[in-house]
Amino acid sequence: MSHSPKSRFTDPLTDLQTQAATGQHYHSSPEGSLAYHRVLRRAHTADTIVGVRGVAVGGQELTVIAGPCAVESSHQLMAAAEQAAASGAHLLRGGAFKLRTSPYAFSGLGEAGLKLLSEARRVSGLPVVTEVVDEESVLLAAAHADMLQIGTRNMHNYVLLKQAAATGKPILLKRGMAATLDEFLHAAEYILATGNSQVVLCERGIRTFSDFTRNTLDLNIVPALKQISHLPVITDPSHGTGRSDLVPAMARASIAAGADGVLIEMHPDPAKALSDGYQSLDPAEFGELVSDLARIAPIVGRTLTLRGR
Ligand code: PEP
Ligand code: MN
Repeated sequence: MSHSPKSRFTDPLTDLQTQAATGQHYHSSPEGSLAYHRVLRRAHTADTIVGVRGVAVGGQELTVIAGPCAVESSHQLMAAAEQAAASGAHLLRGGAFKLRTSPYAFSGLGEAGLKLLSEARRVSGLPVVTEVVDEESVLLAAAHADMLQIGTRNMHNYVLLKQAAATGKPILLKRGMAATLDEFLHAAEYILATGNSQVVLCERGIRTFSDFTRNTLDLNIVPALKQISHLPVITDPSHGTGRSDLVPAMARASIAAGADGVLIEMHPDPAKALSDGYQSLDPAEFGELVSDLARIAPIVGRTLTLRGR
């Protein structure tokens, strides 16, 4: 089964590829250089497989990234790491630098949180992913983490994209909450143009008039991105819904739509979480979800091996 749907028509995506690849795109420079081309399937027809300390993202095997929104304490993170590994997650994710809407909310443990992530990798064997927010955090995180996340609020921060890319670490690039597909791909192009081809695109929900969810997980963009780009695409149904009760269904739907994996917020005790507890699965819910994804995987021509069980 093909993982990259082809359009039968000359559709907006095809036009976007044509315009970008011929330099006719409205964003192309007066010098006529290409708006973007490295991210396109035209440049690279095979799927890119991103390697994160031995874990392949974008291959046959689906990737499950899990962990608490924020690193809160040694006790919390080690428990989360062990539970994630036991349920079959491939990568552990936790934020040491948190960009919070309120300046008074918990903003992460900083470097101490990164040290805990290193320790959690040792304990669980899972490579670790963490968000970077500025130059200092890029340098600190590059010393501890295996993959750097750029959050939704920073997708348009081109200086930060280049700084993170320059570390050579694989990058988990989240879609800006109001970014178009075109803007999302431009942001990825910044990373590739810096000489770092290891980018995973993450749909994390966009702003809509929905009054019952935090964001709207835009599953349309999954097959659209797979069609136009060779980069792996995952979704984040936790931020995409903001509700733990809706996360499993949207994670299952993401895999059915052709995503290469999911990012799931999972906390040992969601009711006590310092951030995003209402959208975090507990370990039992997470384990059940991974089992469900493993059952769906073969239907869409993928595998999800239940390691650790
Ligand atoms: C997060 O991953 O915890 C996070 C803050 O995500 P986003 O940038 O998508 O809001
Ligand atoms: Mn979060």
